[in-house]
Amino acid sequence: MIIASEVHKHFGGFRAVDGASIEIADGSITGLIGPNGAGKSTIFNVIAGVLKPTSGKVTMDGEDITGLPPHELFHKGLLRTFQIAHEFSSMTVRENLMMVPGAQAGENLLNAWFRRSQIATEEAALKRKADEVLEFLTIDHLADEKAGNLSGGQKKLLELGRTMMVDAKVVFLDEVGAGVNRTLLNTIGDAIVRLNKERGYTFCLIEHDMDFIARLCDPVIVMAEGKVLAKGKADEIMQNDAVIEAYLGT
Ligand code: ADP
Ligand code: MG
Repeated sequence: MIIASEVHKHFGGFRAVDGASIEIADGSITGLIGPNGAGKSTIFNVIAGVLKPTSGKVTMDGEDITGLPPHELFHKGLLRTFQIAHEFSSMTVRENLMMVPGAQAGENLLNAWFRRSQIATEEAALKRKADEVLEFLTIDHLADEKAGNLSGGQKKLLELGRTMMVDAKVVFLDEVGAGVNRTLLNTIGDAIVRLNKERGYTFCLIEHDMDFIARLCDPVIVMAEGKVLAKGKADEIMQNDAVIEAYLGT
């Protein structure tokens, strides 16, 4: 589905991503791991249109998407989660979901018959959809809570929820598990698996927690010093000498 080939991203003379190629298969939950500074976030940002590559190419279903801005990728169903922006923290959890650009309440609403009361109807349908998303993520009890009052892990679930308000195809998650307690991490993991299995979402996730990666991801791609070191199943990766050396060497 997504192929990033020979991507370079240089900052001045520094090669943050140094000729890395990554393939994310349709329907997979692909893991991206590697020591700090390996270039994981940078290549994510290149794929998600946040950064323009110095060179290299990114395609989605065969179409060249290199350098397209995030909002265009968003319309194609390629999403990268972002931390809940400061200005949204005083809005409720439900309102945060209803605000997602391009959120669609459902096909029926496009029917001309509904035009007259379209706005009110759309708002009600958006609210229903937001409530469904919250239920799916098991945070429906937080619907009326201000987003700013959520714990770190609950915010991560809300970020994931934002991808469910639109027709996402592939979702990039950068360290969703960072600083999240074990229980909430499992909830996030379950939500990812369900979105993958029940809604056909493809995922690519950067994560440090190897148990989390091993449970969810196949394949796992390992980066170090801007390059791809290895790719395979989690247990194979852990046995790979180059991978072990990359981790122990930092
Ligand atoms: P990772 O996510 O694997 O920890 P990053 O992709 O964030 O690594 O960063 C890779 C390297 O690129 C790091 O050494 C980082 O300091 C550097 N880097 C990242 N972004 C920038 C930037 N905007 N300007 C200069 N250097 C950067
Ligand atoms: Mg990073």
